[in-house]
Amino acid sequence: MQKPDVREKLLYIQTEDGFNGFKRELLTTQLTPIEDSFLACNKCKGIMREACSTNEGLLQVCFMCIENPQNPYQNLVAARKSVLELNVKCPLQKRGCDWNGKICEISQHVDECPCYQIECSLDCGVIHQRKSALQHINIECTMRPVNCEFCDKLVSPTLLIQHLNECENTKMDCNSCGMQVKKINMEFHLKTECSERSLPCTYAQYGCSAIQLKKDEVKDHMRINNELHTALLSEYIASTQTDIMERICQLEEVDKHRSAQIEELTKQNNKLSNKIRHLNNVFMTSLAGSRLRWKISGFASDTTLYESPTFSLEGYIFKCSISIEDAKAHVKVSTLKSGGDKNAKWPFRGKSIVMLVNQDREDESLYFHGDEIELARNFYETPWDSVNQNKRICSIPIASVIRDPFCKKGTVMIYVLVQSLA
Ligand SMILES: [Zn+2]
Ligand SMILES: [Zn+2]
Ligand SMILES: [Zn+2]
Ligand SMILES: [Zn+2]
Ligand SMILES: [Zn+2]
Ligand SMILES: [Zn+2]
Repeated sequence: MQKPDVREKLLYIQTEDGFNGFKRELLTTQLTPIEDSFLACNKCKGIMREACSTNEGLLQVCFMCIENPQNPYQNLVAARKSVLELNVKCPLQKRGCDWNGKICEISQHVDECPCYQIECSLDCGVIHQRKSALQHINIECTMRPVNCEFCDKLVSPTLLIQHLNECENTKMDCNSCGMQVKKINMEFHLKTECSERSLPCTYAQYGCSAIQLKKDEVKDHMRINNELHTALLSEYIASTQTDIMERICQLEEVDKHRSAQIEELTKQNNKLSNKIRHLNNVFMTSLAGSRLRWKISGFASDTTLYESPTFSLEGYIFKCSISIEDAKAHVKVSTLKSGGDKNAKWPFRGKSIVMLVNQDREDESLYFHGDEIELARNFYETPWDSVNQNKRICSIPIASVIRDPFCKKGTVMIYVLVQSLA
């Protein structure tokens, strides 16, 4: 059996005490007798390692060869220097290493020598030369990682068995049907594929208690329990029917209630509509005074000021105007100068109401009048030369005016009513 190299064994003479002087066979040329008397160890007979002299200079030995280190000794500096300069070859020359150098370098060389035998770094137990390490690990080593044949993972051979136990891609026999199934798929197989899996009886949902039937038990179960199954089924149908009938009754009840509600609401709605119509009529007829019926065609097209024909009340003469500004129609009423002004009472106190006519249903027209402050100011002094007094009644957003049914083909109907408050 091969053993790994030991650096010290290759370089030094071995005695019972350990490793001593350098081996003579390392030298490329043997020592001359003079060199020998100067550099050889008197104890181990090798070449002195860390040369010293003992016994008052009588004995020259390696430092490790000193018999009693308690006694005085001296370092042989010159001899040490000479030893380190000696020419040597690699101790593994026989294996093919052709390295040459000096003793001072040999230790380092052995640590790197390609022919030095080492143990496999993956602990397979094989001893190989340092230079064969790559080849060994990549090709020969039994400990090199291998691919799991099931999942392709790299696994060291010592862990392969453990891996195969855990590998989810390995197959195993199904305990029920014996089929080979991947470990990872076993649960699925047992639930849905396995020919031996247990199934609930088809009537389980109607109350049959057999929920784990094997394939070969199904036929017998069905035959034996035929009557039970029929009974379960009719019971289920009967109870379902009752449920459905109850549900229908509930829905009918809800429906009846809804219909009654709708009928009641329609009635109320009609009543309220009639009330509004009635109130509008009452309101219209209660407005005694002078009324202007003003039909304006091409409303809000490009004109910004509209002036109505004049109308009169108790000797006063009025005119209405509409100016369009800021998307609003500003409605104003003014008194006009007339021959009857002397006989009339001034200032005239009055109230004006503007009605935007719904051209489909006049009783659903819109009414506008000024706010309280404008009402309070709503009196007119005697008109003087060519000056009319305008009083703003209201401002109606244009968007409210130019829409069906208040505006038909660009035509708008405005009624203006002036009432005397005197
Ligand atoms: Zn020695
Ligand atoms: Zn070597
Ligand atoms: Zn190996
Ligand atoms: Zn695997
Ligand atoms: Zn199976
Ligand atoms: Zn059953």
